[in-house]
Amino acid sequence: MANDKRYAQANNDSLHRIFTIPEAPDSTLSLIEEEISKNLNGFLSHHIVATDKPLSEIELDFASSALPEQPEYVSDHTRQLLDKLIAQSVHTSAPSFIGHMTSALPYFLLPLSKLMVGLNQNLVKIETSKAFTPMERQVLGMMHRLVYGQTDSFYDTWMHSADSSLGAFCSGGTVANITALWVARNSLLAAKPGFKGVSEEGLNKGLRAYGYDDLAILVSERGHYSLKKAANILGLGHDSIIAIPTDGEHRMDCDKLKEKCARLHSQNVKVMAIVGIAGTTETGTLDPLAKMAEIAQQYQAHFHVDAAWGGATLLSDKYRHLLAGIEQADSVTIDAHKQMYVPMGAGLVVFKNPKAVAAIEHHAEYILRKGSKDLGSHTLEGSRPGMAMLLYASLHIISRPGYELLINQSIEKAKYFANLIEQDRNFQLVSKPELCLLTYRYVPENVQTYLQSCSADKAKKINEVLDQLTVAMQKLQREAGKSFVSRTRIPEQGKYSGAISVFRVVLANPLTTEAILQQVLVEQESIATEQTELLAQLQSIIDA
Ligand SMILES: *Cc1c(COP(=O)(O)O)cnc(C)c1O
Repeated sequence: MANDKRYAQANNDSLHRIFTIPEAPDSTLSLIEEEISKNLNGFLSHHIVATDKPLSEIELDFASSALPEQPEYVSDHTRQLLDKLIAQSVHTSAPSFIGHMTSALPYFLLPLSKLMVGLNQNLVKIETSKAFTPMERQVLGMMHRLVYGQTDSFYDTWMHSADSSLGAFCSGGTVANITALWVARNSLLAAKPGFKGVSEEGLNKGLRAYGYDDLAILVSERGHYSLKKAANILGLGHDSIIAIPTDGEHRMDCDKLKEKCARLHSQNVKVMAIVGIAGTTETGTLDPLAKMAEIAQQYQAHFHVDAAWGGATLLSDKYRHLLAGIEQADSVTIDAHKQMYVPMGAGLVVFKNPKAVAAIEHHAEYILRKGSKDLGSHTLEGSRPGMAMLLYASLHIISRPGYELLINQSIEKAKYFANLIEQDRNFQLVSKPELCLLTYRYVPENVQTYLQSCSADKAKKINEVLDQLTVAMQKLQREAGKSFVSRTRIPEQGKYSGAISVFRVVLANPLTTEAILQQVLVEQESIATEQTELLAQLQSIIDA
């Protein structure tokens, strides 16, 4: 490849050329294109990492904090980048990468993303985005309709209305959850005679104005950590997030929820919000949303549903019933960058009431003037990229039935894998998949038998060793680079009431085959049998 001599000198002429797009793809750019098809066809390669270079060694490539004084040729720099960075990244699109919610992307999003970056639209205001603003409003309208299914005339009235927004597009589920709870807090402590509202006077005066001792946000103990960030930022503090115990299947226990609401009420603590989870991050479980909506109604609490991961299931006619009750939520978070196969940086929250966002409205003189349709007047973020375009394109190119197929296949694949685990006498399925997420662990058959009849004390000892085994296996599997599952800790539902370490699998990649899943168990089994020391410890507990 010829050296791309452009951009090499720090003078005006070459700097101007940096900002000029070459008419025909030059050699450097085609090298990148080549890398895209080769590397991202790690879609097809079964390797998670290209090399087993340890992170400590990779850090040496990124050791210096000195600002570069010498410009580099684009071609030279690109080669280095491919070598040091790209080759050492994780193939999240590999079909044997089944441990996280980040997976493969449809190919057409790559050129579209490039276009999006090139256009560099800023959705904070119409002056820097023009058609992108109505496009994003339409995407929010479609997602609102997916959740709430309002009439055409509802969307005709509200979708492009200057004094409302059906939701907020943002960088992800975290910001979406923060936005929802921000709206909940401000609506609760709204302006009234003698009080200018919490957004003007702050939380202390808000509590006094309304006569509450404190506010609380109730969510099951499987709630995502982003809710804590929200409570922290909104001035409520982590303690105001009250974790309600779950039933035997990781779902919100509604009796406990009711009890807690009653107790808080008697202590003059206002239940600001009840949060239902549609697809927990650790077990993929769905809360009983309809029942929770009823309780929220009874206590006049904002009902938020965190459907960051599971919300896309609404696209499946076959499975959307699993989220029944979501249409009663005041707000719903959905991450497009999870099960909607859009690149990261695409989350959103929709509000049942199109006027709800007025509670967080901000205006400024040079932009976001009153009466403008600027989206920035009710988003947490300021400058924001045109990511909605990628969701817009995906919704059209894949279409609702296409998404349904993807969702259904993922769920059915998870059921297949769960079956496979249950049939293998040395594995134990810990949480069944409701959607496409499940957890399990390796427990040798004789240990499983022993656990059924041993004392709680022995079970504790056994589980401690099994935890070490799970952790060791997950690490070795990751380092081998052929496949990847993640791990987490969840309460064990049996006689031992502590938490246990488990493998966590998310089956979202459409290219993951049944053969790959079989192979994962074979590989794990062989890693396990090499853990002779831990296996011996298990045996000695049994023999003691
Ligand atoms: C992923 C997730 C979040 C956070 O979303 P980010 O996009 O990572 O910010 C919140 N809640 C749930 C249930 C999630 O799965």
